[in-house]
Amino acid sequence: MHHEIYLDANATTPVLPAALAAASDTMQASFGNPSSSHSTGLVARELREDARASAARLLGSGEGTVLFVSGATEAIQTAVLSSLCELRERRKRGDTRRQVLVYGATEHKAVPESLAHWNRLLGLELEIRALPVNAEGLHDLELLRAWAPEIGMLCTMAANNETGVVSDLAGIERALVESASPALWLVDCVQALGKLALDLKNTRIDYAAFSGHKLHAPKGIGMLYVREGSPCTPLVMGGGQEGGWRSGTENMPGIAALGAVLSAACRGDTFKPHETLHAYRDRLVQALRDAFPGVAFNAPLERTLPTTLNFSVPGVSSRMLMDLFEAAGVRVSAGSACSAAKAAPSYVLEAMGLAEWRTTSAVRMSFGPLADEAFIDAACAAIRDCGRILRDSASAIKPSGERAANDADAAHVRALDWRELDTLLQRDPQALLIDVRERFEVAAAAPVVRAGKTAVNVPLTEIEQEVPRWMLEHAHPLVFFCRSGNRSLQATLAVQREGHVSCIQLSGGLALQAVR
Ligand code: PLP
Repeated sequence: MHHEIYLDANATTPVLPAALAAASDTMQASFGNPSSSHSTGLVARELREDARASAARLLGSGEGTVLFVSGATEAIQTAVLSSLCELRERRKRGDTRRQVLVYGATEHKAVPESLAHWNRLLGLELEIRALPVNAEGLHDLELLRAWAPEIGMLCTMAANNETGVVSDLAGIERALVESASPALWLVDCVQALGKLALDLKNTRIDYAAFSGHKLHAPKGIGMLYVREGSPCTPLVMGGGQEGGWRSGTENMPGIAALGAVLSAACRGDTFKPHETLHAYRDRLVQALRDAFPGVAFNAPLERTLPTTLNFSVPGVSSRMLMDLFEAAGVRVSAGSACSAAKAAPSYVLEAMGLAEWRTTSAVRMSFGPLADEAFIDAACAAIRDCGRILRDSASAIKPSGERAANDADAAHVRALDWRELDTLLQRDPQALLIDVRERFEVAAAAPVVRAGKTAVNVPLTEIEQEVPRWMLEHAHPLVFFCRSGNRSLQATLAVQREGHVSCIQLSGGLALQAVR
């Protein structure tokens, strides 16, 4: 139960061994600059074009262009800049039609942020509107049809990163075509790559964005598809690489690695087929139902990617479920990785109009097409263990009454890292090591022992009862820790406020225990 079960593939994935080998080759044996005209350069160019050919095959890009960029955020940026420059040109040419910028309400933040940024920077002052989604996460196509004649740019995603909801791209396309919309259309295909069949040439899509690290290529490589004839404005100018559309010496390790992943996806011998992924997810669903009676899935399973589950357990907050899974070695998230640091409920689930208990309890579990039986077996077993632990410690779970630590108070807290803790424990064997996590989290993980000293468990909610006793042994330090350092900071502040003079917190928490 204590090894890591990574169920957060929508955030990122480990690199495919063949991709790692391909990247490594471009850094040593085939290290050439693809712009050089000598043989070393020609080899690199060949590798780059092989990767592009695999991309073209997998995406069905036809006469369109596939550019290598640093990731989906850059691809989105380029598509937005290109579209907005084109809208400005249309205006200059005397086109006086209204031009509205429209994005789906559940888009990744990269989309609305880029629209707002470039709209402001280019001084266009166009209206930006979010297209609502229904309770299933699908775009309101009636409204889209009504807006279509005035849309200058439309941004929709192929599949949502938090819920896995697969958009009705054919329906969106019909709405645009039937109303002869002048819209330039960007589709964020990040979560679709390798999981949904794409045939871009046979669609009306102008731009499609991709990120390698969501499908077992490294971070820092992605792709932008540009339909033949659609406008393209470079975001980066320089030596004229990528046909002048994206300058800068190519990220060859990234391109070669992505090429290896794309060619594996084309061959069909590496990634699991759809039916297998569906069967895997059915097993995870059953494990969740067994572990957490009352579990509610936040998007209809038949409308979502087979690799994503978003669910809520009544009466158990996202934070609490996350802590429980984390303690059992299961890595999940409460929404997108980029918003993990913010405590706010998911805007994606709010856009779907889900009840508040669901948005505040939501957890996302996602896996990739490299998953196998053994992995799913282990994941199901760990999920069932988590359910058991939660039931066994149901009495220990009560509203935590945690309050957000105040930055000004936090500045006066003494903090140690794990190595400094060992030194302190050796110097003062009477120091007390206090784990402030909930009992069920402690029960799910191995005991914490440092410098021969075993930690005692006093959940944050019960700290105040212990303070009088600790005050009597004033001379010895109290060291508080938790998973991330957040609750231990609150504990340290609380005990310090009671007048204890040697409270210390372990910065970074258990999450960093293995780092040093
Ligand atoms: N779009 C979606 C749907 C995503 O899930 C992500 C990654 O979180 C992005 C865009 C941004 O990708 P990157 O951060 O790799 O540029």
